[in-house]
Amino acid sequence: MTVGLLSFASVPIVSPFVLNLSFDASAQAAPQSFRDTCNAAAAALMAVITDPITMNIIVGYNETPDGLGGSVATNLGAGARSSDLGETTGGINQTSYTTIRAALSAKASRSANSTSLLNSLPNTSSLNGSSNFYLPRGLGKALGLIAANDPALDGSSGIGSSVPAANLLGVCIHEFTHAMGREHGSAPFDFCRFLSPPPGARNFGAGSTSPAQYFSVDGGATSLVSLATSSDPGDFAATNGDIFQALYAPGVTQNPLSAVDLKVLDAIGFTVLGVV
Ligand SMILES: [Zn+2]
Repeated sequence: MTVGLLSFASVPIVSPFVLNLSFDASAQAAPQSFRDTCNAAAAALMAVITDPITMNIIVGYNETPDGLGGSVATNLGAGARSSDLGETTGGINQTSYTTIRAALSAKASRSANSTSLLNSLPNTSSLNGSSNFYLPRGLGKALGLIAANDPALDGSSGIGSSVPAANLLGVCIHEFTHAMGREHGSAPFDFCRFLSPPPGARNFGAGSTSPAQYFSVDGGATSLVSLATSSDPGDFAATNGDIFQALYAPGVTQNPLSAVDLKVLDAIGFTVLGVV
């Protein structure tokens, strides 16, 4: 029986979530270690996300690939997302609040975190006055609103050559999650961005600056982390070295996804292992 158990344990675990990276000419010309680290970042995300979808992201080295054609969002302030270290754009559709909420509702039982978020979203035709939101393609797939294996590009990421080797894995995870849909500016992440406690307002602002704000999945009552007020207000404030903070800190920023990182990915619609 022991042999059987050992045999079972040696079977490779294949993630139902596939993060399919392609490298443009600049990335193909980069050091092999760059592509290796990009693939390690993709593997780290495939290890924790279990949605049965395939997401397609093109990666550039010292530039952001222009592979998304007319679907590149301008309304989300596409462009620099993490100082000059990397930037991400994603193909985005405008979708009704009702549609997005229904899709989140269908998946809400996956964690207490996502259930709390759903309970904070009124079953109405608008949220804080907005009836339509920008839905990144990656979230569209996670929420079942875009075909799971649609072959079109879902996003692009550009990673700078100046990123120290010790920080590169974290920067890649940071930028890839933007390409997957961790974006702000009338997007689903804004369901969780708050300016003040209840009955305070959510923050739907786009752009690169913001008033003080925080991430909450219970309608603003509890802050799980402070969010950035400059650079990328869809990121965390630069306080603790988390890889989702707006600016990484050489020698400080940690590579692993933290518990609150996983809560963010869960809240915007992914099924994530280890989220409570
Ligand atoms: Zn960022």
